Amino acid sequence: MGLLSLGTPLPWEESRQYSNHIRSNGLEQLINMFNAASKRQDDPFLWGDELEYILVQFNNNTHRAKINIDKDYILEDLNKPGHCEYDLALRNNTNFHPEYGRFMIEATPIKPYNGESLNDYLFVEENMTKRRIIASKAINNPDIIPLTITSYPLMGIGNFTEPPSQPNGDASKSLFLPDEIINRHVRFPTLTANIRKRRGEKVAINIPMYQDETTAKFDESIPLNRGLFSEDEEPILGAALAGHIYMDSMGFGMGCSCLQVTVQAPNVNKARYLYDSWANLAPIFLALSSATPILKGHLADQDVRWNVISKSVDDRTAYERDVEPLRPGNEFGGVKLEDQGKVQKIPKSRYDSIDSYLGDKLDDDDTYRFFNNELNDNNQPLNELVLKKLISNKDKHFDLPLAQHFAHLYIRDPLVIFNERINQDNLSDTDHFENIQSTNWQTIRFKPPTQKAIPTNHDTPGWRVEFRSMDIQITDFENAAFATFIALLGHSFLLNSEEWNFYIPISKIEENMSRAHFKNPIFSTKYFFKKDIHSPGFEIDELSINEIINGSSQFIGLIKIVENHLKTQYNIEISSNGPYSRFYYYLKLISGRASGELISPANYIRYFVLGHETYQKDSKITEEINFELLEKLNRISKYDDSQGELSEFFGNELSLYLVENKVNSEV
Ligand code: GLU
Ligand code: MG
Repeated sequence: MGLLSLGTPLPWEESRQYSNHIRSNGLEQLINMFNAASKRQDDPFLWGDELEYILVQFNNNTHRAKINIDKDYILEDLNKPGHCEYDLALRNNTNFHPEYGRFMIEATPIKPYNGESLNDYLFVEENMTKRRIIASKAINNPDIIPLTITSYPLMGIGNFTEPPSQPNGDASKSLFLPDEIINRHVRFPTLTANIRKRRGEKVAINIPMYQDETTAKFDESIPLNRGLFSEDEEPILGAALAGHIYMDSMGFGMGCSCLQVTVQAPNVNKARYLYDSWANLAPIFLALSSATPILKGHLADQDVRWNVISKSVDDRTAYERDVEPLRPGNEFGGVKLEDQGKVQKIPKSRYDSIDSYLGDKLDDDDTYRFFNNELNDNNQPLNELVLKKLISNKDKHFDLPLAQHFAHLYIRDPLVIFNERINQDNLSDTDHFENIQSTNWQTIRFKPPTQKAIPTNHDTPGWRVEFRSMDIQITDFENAAFATFIALLGHSFLLNSEEWNFYIPISKIEENMSRAHFKNPIFSTKYFFKKDIHSPGFEIDELSINEIINGSSQFIGLIKIVENHLKTQYNIEISSNGPYSRFYYYLKLISGRASGELISPANYIRYFVLGHETYQKDSKITEEINFELLEKLNRISKYDDSQGELSEFFGNELSLYLVENKVNSEV
């Protein structure tokens, strides 16, 4: 996540004086990036995925599991040329990156997949499998396992780290999370502290608690009498809400794992089209991938991670959020009015769903194919200076929706500034732009190329779009299924950009996003969707996820779109035999999750808890539940059906297939 510059990060008190400097130079960098790359054409459809892992340490003697926080040096080993783990990673086209938590790693392919070659889609799962194996080899301890779980069940409850650590750190001031869980790179504790300081209070993450027979009215895990920091009284002052799981630190959100997919579009206009066409798939696939029913040791009354992260990095002041501050006289948080000029109200966190479409310009003239400005009907605050500057850009790179997009990103302050990187060469550096861009964590990300990406330079990536909403899945099979599905949809959308119209008013996507946070979001609600993608106008319909994925008399269905794409592009019929049978099973998984034939990871985990012998009907996760659940998920991730769990989770056909058809894992 984000940019890892080296150097001395400035604390918020010092950094805020440079906010405008970063924004204005970041904007120059952005304009230079457009100057270099706006005429780029015909870039190939390359793509990649990102997986995030949580290192779980099992103790089979005590029957306890913890998150491990002292193996983060493996990332250095994996990235140090000459080191044996580095060579192994390189040979297998796998790349490992730091994440927010010291107990986390992120992994990607080194070279992107070629999305125009069908065979490359079959390497995705193999690559994912090898990442897991290589990470385990680097850890070199069979009790510590990188699991692709969205949230660690006992995060912040009792002694949950190995080695043990105490929640008394100055960066987060959390009542629950020790600073030792935060990545050692100075950027991360600084980010944590600066969000809190700018906001003027700790973050307050309240997630509805699952209500069972004996569930307490108020989150009983909150220590009410600690007197270590003045912030300790915040839950009593109103930060913690009754009936909710209360969390007070960035680590609860950014300690969650997701699955992301980034693709390269042929040119800037196509990237804009894809961004817009994917926008409404973000809430749908958040719901469909739902895997997060447990937070901070409690069952939640929702199934996804999204709003937890959103609230965990919410640096808006009380005034900007339009609420009363917890302490009087503190409505501007760490922001002084004179620093900021006019302070505006900001409806959403910097980690949230996208706020506006970019517009689907055709390549050869200045008109939109299906987009019109009325579709951008969210109340989105803009940085007016940025808007003016972009609109009046002499090369006319920025029309209204594009200028609005960046002007919205630029309402945010840079959160971490490195002392050594304040002055940059805007013709070649991109740090200031990336500083703003990479801390606007939205459902879809529009990624312009660097100033090096002139049309003739194909060694450097072009215009890319990232799909960021999905919860991570337990197995590589599922992660590969979802990642390839999104990539194949992306490719087919790009090839049909003149025909297919997915636009609905963006406020309806906002509503879909909140519905994706209902419990059992695949079945408990419908979602706004454009059912007639061939009609140029816009209609507003509500479809179930089953209809959206599997189709109905109203909508062709996304599975069919992928099947048609494979047929027209590669002349293959999907079937359970032959070299491309893996696709059949990928589609079976996605179709089955949408129809209810297969259980969602969130429901699977929830039912396990509800049926556990130590569960007291109080919504609380016991140490036994935590250990046994993680063991179970570990077995599933290895396609081990010795205890019948694989069949329970995947159904008979898929589980049998998976046991008999493991992908190549030789590293
Ligand atoms: N872990 C974050 C999530 O679950 C994403 C961080 C990143 O952008 O890499 O959404
Ligand atoms: Mg990441």
